[in-house]
Amino acid sequence: MTTQDIPILAEGSVSELEQALRGTLVRASDPAYDDVRAIWNGAHDRRPALIARCAGVADVIRALEFARSEELRVAVRAGGHSIPGYSSVDGGMVIDLSPMQGIQVDPRRRTVRVQPGATWAALDHETQAFGLAVTGGLVSSTGVAGLTLGGGIGWLMRKHGLTCDNLIAADVVTADGRLVRTSQADNAELFWGLRGGGGNFGIVTSLEFRLHPVGPMITGGAVFYPGERAGELLRVYRDWIATAPDELTTLVNLLTCPPAPFLPEEWHGRPLVAVVGMYAGPHDEAERALRPLRELGAPVADLFGPMPYVAMQSLIDPLWGPGASSYMKAGFMRGLDDETIDTLVAQHASVTSPKTEMHVQHLGGAVARVAADATAFGERDAPLLVNIVAGTHTADGFDDAVAWAQETYGALTPALTGGAYVNFLSSEGEERVRAAYGAETYRRLVALKDEYDPDNVFRLNQNVRPSGR
Ligand SMILES: Cc1cc2nc3c(=O)[nH]c(=O)nc-3n(C[C@H](O)[C@H](O)[C@H](O)COP(=O)(O)OP(=O)(O)OC[C@H]3O[C@@H](n4cnc5c(N)ncnc54)[C@H](O)[C@@H]3O)c2cc1C
Repeated sequence: MTTQDIPILAEGSVSELEQALRGTLVRASDPAYDDVRAIWNGAHDRRPALIARCAGVADVIRALEFARSEELRVAVRAGGHSIPGYSSVDGGMVIDLSPMQGIQVDPRRRTVRVQPGATWAALDHETQAFGLAVTGGLVSSTGVAGLTLGGGIGWLMRKHGLTCDNLIAADVVTADGRLVRTSQADNAELFWGLRGGGGNFGIVTSLEFRLHPVGPMITGGAVFYPGERAGELLRVYRDWIATAPDELTTLVNLLTCPPAPFLPEEWHGRPLVAVVGMYAGPHDEAERALRPLRELGAPVADLFGPMPYVAMQSLIDPLWGPGASSYMKAGFMRGLDDETIDTLVAQHASVTSPKTEMHVQHLGGAVARVAADATAFGERDAPLLVNIVAGTHTADGFDDAVAWAQETYGALTPALTGGAYVNFLSSEGEERVRAAYGAETYRRLVALKDEYDPDNVFRLNQNVRPSGR
C-alpha cells in the first residue's frame, strides 16, 4: 500500500477526533508518521490512515468509536512486537496504547497495576525496586499487554507460572465502548478468556498482577558449545531436565554465533549451541543444578553466574532489536527422542541465515500445575516448546529463511503435539488458531466472542471468529 491508497476521511471529523483526544492523532501527512507507524517486525510495512496515540481510557473509547463509525479496521498496539504485524493495519486505525505507561507497585500486598503501554523493562524496573517480579518475556522491549493476553512464557514460569497465571484483574474497553472490570469475582468468564485468548475481546487498559519475591540477584546466563556438539548437548539436556527443579527455567538455542563482544571473535559466524536460562533461588543450589551442563568440557563461553534479575531480563536484548524481518514457526513437543534430536541437528546445519535460531524451551513445573480449564491458554502438559525463529537483517533472503523454517517444522512433525502457542504464531489461518486452543476451549472463546465482539471489530489478532461471521 502507498500513502495515496489510504482512504480519504472528512477532515472535519478527523479534526473533531483530534480535538477530543488528550493524546495525539497522527496522520499520513505528519512528519512523525513513519517513525510512529513502525513496528518491531521489519517484515511488515503497514500504512494506517490514522494512529491514535492514546493518553488514557477516554482516548481509547473515543478512538474506537470513531473507527467504528468510519468503518475503519482497528489494530491495537501495545509493545508493537506482534510477529504477524497485527498491531498495524493498512488504511485503518491504529489504537496505540504505548503512551499509557503508568505502573503502581503495592509492595505490601505484592501486587502491581500496569497500563498497557508498558514494556517488561519498565515493569521489572519498578517491581525489582522492592525485590519483586512476575514472569515476563525474554526480551525486555516486548509489551506487557500483548505477551500476557497470549499467555506469557519467561524465565520464572516453571517456578511462578505463566504471566497470565499471575493476572488478578484487568479492565477492558469492549467493542461497544463500555469499560468492563474483570477478575475471578467480576465477569469471571471474560477474565478466563483474557488469560490466553489474546486481544479478541476488547482493548485492555489496565492489568493487575500478583508478584513474587525474586532476586534482586539471581544466577543466570548461558553456556555455549560448538555447533557440532549440538546432538550430544541435546541428549544431555533431555536427561537433565527430567529432574530439573522448578527454580530452573532454560532453553536450548541452536544458533549462528553473533558478532557479540562476549563471544570469542574466532567463533563469530560459526554454528553454536547454547543453554540459556536462570535459577530463581540461592546461588549454591544453582551451581549444583547447572553443573552437569557446564562440565561437558571446552565450552566456547560459559557466562553463567550471579547477576541482577533485570540484567537477565535484558540479557539477549542486543540480539533482538527492531527492524529486522522475522517469522516464527512454533509448536509444543512431546519430548526429545533421538530421531527428533537428529532432525534438529541436520536442520541447524542447513540454516539459510545467520539471524535464524531454533529454541527448544523447557516447560512443565508451575505451568503444568494449573488446571487445563482454569485459563484459555491452550496446552499446559507438553514438556517442551520448539520455536523456529527465522530472521534476516533486511528483506534479502527472508523468503528463503521462512521456507527453511516451514521445512524444519514439517521435519519435526513426529515430535509435535499439533498444538500451538498463540504468541508465537505467524499469520497461519483459522485451523492453527483452533489447534492452539483445542475444541472445548475454542468453543468457550467463540461464546465469549459472540457476547463481547459479535461484529469481530477485533480481528487483527489470532482471531476467534464469532459464530455469526
Ligand atoms: C523479540 C520478541 C521476543 C519475544 N519473547 C517472548 C517471550 O519471551 N515470551 C512470550 O511469551 N512471548 C514472546 N514474544 C511474543 C510476544 O509475546 C507477542 O508477540 C506479543 O503479542 C507481543 O505483545 P506486544 O504488546 O509487544 O505487541 P503488540 O504488537 O502491540 O500486540 C500484539 C497483539 O496483542 C494484542 N494486544 C496487545 N495489547 C493489547 C491490549 N492492551 N488489549 C487488547 N489486545 C492487545 C493485539 O491483538 C495485538 O495485535 C516475543 C516476541 C518478540 C518479537
